[in-house]
Amino acid sequence: MPGLELKAQAKINLSLDVLGKREDGYHELRMIMQTVSLHDIVLLETVPSGIIVECSSRWVPEDRTNTAWKAADLLRCKFGIKSGIKIKIIKRIPVAAGLAGGSSDAAAVLRGVNELFSLGLSLTDLRLLGKQVGADVPYCISGGTMLAEGIGEKLTRLPDFSGVDVVLVKPGVGVSTAWVYGNLRASEIIDRDRPDTNLLSGALRTRDIRTVSENMKNVLEGVTIPKYDIVRFAKDKLLELGAIGSMMSGSGPTAFGIFPDGKSAAAACDKLAGDKRWKCFRTKTTGEIK
Ligand code: ATP
Repeated sequence: MPGLELKAQAKINLSLDVLGKREDGYHELRMIMQTVSLHDIVLLETVPSGIIVECSSRWVPEDRTNTAWKAADLLRCKFGIKSGIKIKIIKRIPVAAGLAGGSSDAAAVLRGVNELFSLGLSLTDLRLLGKQVGADVPYCISGGTMLAEGIGEKLTRLPDFSGVDVVLVKPGVGVSTAWVYGNLRASEIIDRDRPDTNLLSGALRTRDIRTVSENMKNVLEGVTIPKYDIVRFAKDKLLELGAIGSMMSGSGPTAFGIFPDGKSAAAACDKLAGDKRWKCFRTKTTGEIK
């Protein structure tokens, strides 16, 4: 059987609000998610037995704790797939960065294994299965612009916001998502720090890039930034270099800026690239993965 090559795209948050803590310990979220063109490559091929994961990044485990391994195992067990699966990940999305790299790899494996073994699963089926691997996996199945609620699995498609120029700045620190949520005092978040999701949705509808950019808010900045000052510095630098708005993505530490055009994004990226404290990526928002 021939192999498959898939793209696993990174995401940014255009907003992130935490509404409270649930009885099961998870947080109740409301966030606008947006895929960008920066992606990992996931190669799938059949092998005689087992699941083999190989990843180009030394920061990513190749054992059963890898999200891609978990996704392949889930489908193999559920559908009695006898064949083994080899997964090769060419990592381009920074790891532990707030860009959902692991979730996106898992989603690509779910889509790919469905195709490789002709399982006939719908996107809805894949999203439901994805939730068992991780909260952001259902979103990563088809990406684009979406409102994600619950723990991230309740999805509503929003107007397309593709083709917008974005610069990502990933400081040289990794931030644990669990640490950020563990240190969040959800009851102490003040209204001024919360995003206005209705305002943002309306601005997406009219593709008002300025209103979106100027109203992005992420309540997790209140936990990550006091510990990692470099995130604020990166956000400020992006604004100084012409971004219309800048924010931290997910639990961080990646900061991103939205730029009015490709030329200003490229110029900002060139300036930022000289600084050893971070890595810089020029990218664009993308639409639904078909
Ligand atoms: P999120 O935004 O969903 O919180 P993230 O971008 O902050 O995710 P990831 O890059 O997904 O973080 O990685 C989080 C941790 O998961 C890493 O420290 C890594 O050890 C582990 N991991 C397991 N599988 C993968 C994978 N396929 N790609 C990246 N990291 C993985």
